[in-house]
Amino acid sequence: MRVEIEILGSGTSSGIPTVGCDCWVCRSENPRNRRLRSSVLFRVQDGADEVRLLVDVTPDLRLQALRAGFSSVHAVLFTHTHADHCHGLDDLRALYWGGGRQPIPVWGYPESIARLKQSFAYVFDHEYDYKGIARLEPQVFQHQPFKVAGVTVTPIPVVHGNMRVAGFRIGDAAYITDCNAVPESSLAALKGVRLLVLDALRRAPHPTHMSLPEALATARRIGVEQVFFTHINHDIEHESVNRELPPGAALGFDRLLAALEPDGRITISERPPGPPLIA
Ligand SMILES: [Zn+2]
Ligand SMILES: [Zn+2]
Ligand SMILES: [Zn+2]
Repeated sequence: MRVEIEILGSGTSSGIPTVGCDCWVCRSENPRNRRLRSSVLFRVQDGADEVRLLVDVTPDLRLQALRAGFSSVHAVLFTHTHADHCHGLDDLRALYWGGGRQPIPVWGYPESIARLKQSFAYVFDHEYDYKGIARLEPQVFQHQPFKVAGVTVTPIPVVHGNMRVAGFRIGDAAYITDCNAVPESSLAALKGVRLLVLDALRRAPHPTHMSLPEALATARRIGVEQVFFTHINHDIEHESVNRELPPGAALGFDRLLAALEPDGRITISERPPGPPLIA
């Protein structure tokens, strides 16, 4: 099995540059300091078919799908329902059309699915006969692994202030965003993970996100070979901070591709930027 994670967005809730901010990171022209809202695409190859699992639908989903070159997914996995992770939900219609108008399964904790149904009632209303919206198939998980298009996904609960957020493990790769703590039982469930994308908002502590030192310590405890940090805010300038990190740890960035190859290697590459999407 080959498991690839593409970072579609590595930025905190406001995105970087942040509207109205003229700090040096927001003014930077280095593409690695330009961060769309946090999301990843898992591409899993087990045999002939590629399974694409999209984690979260950010307000930047349209740009992210255009940039990463996908027009359909097998399912969407929701970490939680903060606006930066789900307010691109309406744009799933393009992926619904791209997938031949097959309803897209959307997986989340029961409270996440309930909130989505509340916030996007028209999308989940089967009486609403309008062809311009996505058809979604809500599915819930708790702690047990579940199968999506033949791929086993293990939800890993983490703490995000007063709410729980789902991390996702597929094989020995995992994605964990928006957390200030990983409980012992979840650390145990992450044992054996070799490639991890993990929340690290900034250097300083924060009540609902891990700081860079906390995220590093968490990755060490799990024992991962390679960790990339995500959900990064404008306190972190990519090049200068990245240089300080130890081997096996690096700042994530938009368009990063990291894969666990069938032969066990971890490969890291970068999607070419392509034409500018905002002129
Ligand atoms: Zn967030
Ligand atoms: Zn700024
Ligand atoms: Zn959040």
